Amino acid sequence: MQKKYLMTPGPTPVPAEVMLTMAAPIIHHRTPDFSAAFKQSVEGLKYVFQTESDVLLFACSGTGVMESAIVNCFSAGDTVIVTRNGKFGDRQKQICETYGLNVIDLAYEWTETVKPADIKAALDANPGVRGVIVTQSETSSGVLNDVKAIGEIVGPLEDTVLIVDSITGIGAVDCKTDEWNLDVVMTGSQKGLMLPPGLAACTVSKKAWKAYERSTLPKYYFDWMKYQKNVAKDTTPFTPAVTLVLGLNQALDMMRDEGIENTIARHSRLAKATRAGVEALGLKLFAPEDGRGSAVTPVWVPEGVDGKAIVKIMKDKHGVTIAGGQDDYAGRIFRIGHLGYFGEFDIITTLAALEMTLAELGYEFEPGTGIKGAELVFMEG
Ligand SMILES: *Cc1c(COP(=O)(O)O)cnc(C)c1O
Repeated sequence: MQKKYLMTPGPTPVPAEVMLTMAAPIIHHRTPDFSAAFKQSVEGLKYVFQTESDVLLFACSGTGVMESAIVNCFSAGDTVIVTRNGKFGDRQKQICETYGLNVIDLAYEWTETVKPADIKAALDANPGVRGVIVTQSETSSGVLNDVKAIGEIVGPLEDTVLIVDSITGIGAVDCKTDEWNLDVVMTGSQKGLMLPPGLAACTVSKKAWKAYERSTLPKYYFDWMKYQKNVAKDTTPFTPAVTLVLGLNQALDMMRDEGIENTIARHSRLAKATRAGVEALGLKLFAPEDGRGSAVTPVWVPEGVDGKAIVKIMKDKHGVTIAGGQDDYAGRIFRIGHLGYFGEFDIITTLAALEMTLAELGYEFEPGTGIKGAELVFMEG
């Protein structure tokens, strides 16, 4: 037997309480029992999204809700600004192009943050832009983009919506949907919500509903109005992921008990300790100092070490699953997730496994250095 640890930024570990809730016999979705549970889940999601706006819940992975935002807010030929500094920003661009939008492409290195001033300049140079699309927490690079500053720029523009992929942001970093003028904020169940994959949710502001009214892109399953009309009746237009909704309520209760500010603070400490641990080992962080998120810590593979072997040995020999790099960074970075149901000793365990793995691969360091680096952060209290 080998005890296993899931240290990836999605899927993330699911608490036993949530798993047990989902072990209950399935109930029918057109019942008062399910309606009560559904209503509770929408209220709980508003709490974690920090919004009074509408919240819609879908049976799909995160990419489904990303696509829903595009088809519900825009028409073919509309001009949108897509910012991208990682794989998920690239996906936003692909979705927009698939639907015939005219994309103003603000592309950055994966090691850079999106610069709000560039968005301002692009908006000034291109009157009539209908949307700005940003990934708050870029999971592929660990970069945190400043959606608050971007909200200040887009907020006053009546006909331009700000769409935020916060799929690994919600629950890990602060995301004040209403206060920051974010029109559509998205998340997915297998990330900070501590659930298995299969649910995704988004907020829809009044401005986003105005965009919906204008939008002519075809939509059926993801037509937001179908969901909105049913939310008013505490139900869903199509068969919901009943079991996941019941699990979601359990997870949301846990988040409410902790308090969203405390949840975010816990992630911040876990991220800080992880960074301190890997830096103490002489490794280099991938994300830039001005934009490090708390969901995942990407680390450069040290010279002379086989990056894919790090991930493989950690998993096969030590039972610790971390993520490798994606696209151009496959084999060049590895990523330690600490998003959702994580505590201090998950970080210590992972750093210990990392140390043993690096030693096996011939990297030279004093054993215990990484663990000590993390411990010192945790002992700060
Ligand atoms: C996980 C993730 C998504 C959605 O991916 P799915 O595999 O469709 O759930 C989108 N954006 C970001 C930033 C993510 O981390």
